[in-house]
Amino acid sequence: MNRIAVYPGTFDPVTFGHLDIIRRGVRLVDRLVVAVAVNTEKQFLFSSQERMDFLREAVDTIPGVEVCQMNGLLVDFVRQLGADFVLRGLRAVSDFEYEFQMAGMNRKLYPEVETVFLVSGEETLFLSSRLVKEIAGMGGDVSRFTPPGVIPELKRRMMARLGRGPG
Ligand code: ADP
Repeated sequence: MNRIAVYPGTFDPVTFGHLDIIRRGVRLVDRLVVAVAVNTEKQFLFSSQERMDFLREAVDTIPGVEVCQMNGLLVDFVRQLGADFVLRGLRAVSDFEYEFQMAGMNRKLYPEVETVFLVSGEETLFLSSRLVKEIAGMGGDVSRFTPPGVIPELKRRMMARLGRGPG
C-alpha cells in the first residue's frame, strides 16, 4: 500500500519541533509531503522559496519526505495528491482550539479528509517559530531550536527588524 500524508504549515522558519513531527510522521506512511503554505494572512520573515530551502536542507537525510509549495486550499492539495490524511502537531492546550477548528472546517470542505495529530515531544513542547524569531532578534542562542542553516539569516533579519545591530 502506498500511504501518503500531507504535513502543512508556514514553517517560518522550520524548527526542531517541526522536524520531530516529520521524523515521527514519516514512520506512519510511505510518503510524507511537507506542504509550505504561501497565501495566508500571515506576515512572513522568509519568502516561500527560503522556507522551502531551509526545510529541504533539514529533511535531506530523512527518506520518504519531500517538500512542496502549497498555493491554495489544503483540501484541494490533499485531493490532488490522493493523500490519506493530514498530519499536524499539537503542543499545549493553546494549539487545540485552532487545530480543532481547522480539522473541522477541512472535513466540511472535503468529508473524506482525516487529520492525524502527533503530540509534541517533551524536548520541543514549548518551541514555536515565533519564539525562535524573538530570541534570535534579541541576540539569544537558538542553536537548540532551529537547524544551523537557518541561523545566520534569521539573526540578521530579526536584529534588523528589532533595530539591533550585531553584538
Ligand atoms: P501554522 O500552520 O499555524 O503556520 P507552523 O508552520 O508553525 O503553523 O506549524 C505547522 C504545524 O506544526 C502545526 O500543526 C503546529 O501545531 C505544528 N508544530 C509547530 N511547532 C511544533 C512543536 N514544537 N511541536 C509539535 N508540533 C509543532
